[in-house]
Amino acid sequence: MKLANLDGRATIVVDGGGIDVATATGGRFGPDLPAVYDDWTGFRAVADALGSGTVAPIEEHELGPPSPRPVQVFGIGINYKAHAEETGADLPARPATFTKFPTCLTGPFAEVALPEGMVDWEVELVVVIGRRAERVAEDDAWNHVAGLTIGQDLSERGLQFAAGAQFSLGKSHPGFGPTGPWLVTPDELDDPNDLALGCAIDGETVQDARTSDMVFDVPRLIAELSSVLSLLPGDVIFTGTPSGVGISRQPPRFLQPGQELESWIEGIGRMRTRLVAP
Ligand code: ZN
Repeated sequence: MKLANLDGRATIVVDGGGIDVATATGGRFGPDLPAVYDDWTGFRAVADALGSGTVAPIEEHELGPPSPRPVQVFGIGINYKAHAEETGADLPARPATFTKFPTCLTGPFAEVALPEGMVDWEVELVVVIGRRAERVAEDDAWNHVAGLTIGQDLSERGLQFAAGAQFSLGKSHPGFGPTGPWLVTPDELDDPNDLALGCAIDGETVQDARTSDMVFDVPRLIAELSSVLSLLPGDVIFTGTPSGVGISRQPPRFLQPGQELESWIEGIGRMRTRLVAP
């Protein structure tokens, strides 16, 4: 199943458009996305039977983040072997975790105003939690995932590395967390642990990798995070970026107003972010 945020309403994506969840369930689920994640198990039990509801066309500009108001948003640094190499970092023994503050989230076809500084791209597989997770074993971890989507962990490198390391601030400007175009449940994917992902600037591919290059895969990340804290329904995990970021290039390269950043993941889809002047 694919679940979209269409103008703030939970919408099941089918061929030709979307089915409004609140209308199709007589108000039992939705329209608000967070309420759907709060009863994800109950929703999944009825969602697959809703495929025959009224289908309305989906306009790209109406799509918002699949999880628009998570309590927690996690980011993972240095989680691809080739990205560790390009940054000169050692492979970490445990996931290098930071937060992106939830106000940075935006939709998959949004315009993002570039702040002053050096704004870099980071395409990432993004996990949305569907069932509360505490001390979850790797074997059980996928059972706590609602689904997967695409994210860009946009990063202003000046602030990120100011005063030691300010990852959370440098990655939380408004619009620095485009996600979408929709949530895809893991059962839709042949192997959710091995997906091609990449991004391009004005058509020039700058990142091109597979999630199987991760240091800590999705089950391990959920096990590690939930060994420390509670993961809640709707929580969002940016699982780290592969190699090809701008700061590791010679010379370094950053995003400019007027450019379009397209991001894709196999089996999920594509999103396009338009970068504009502040
Ligand atoms: Zn990142």
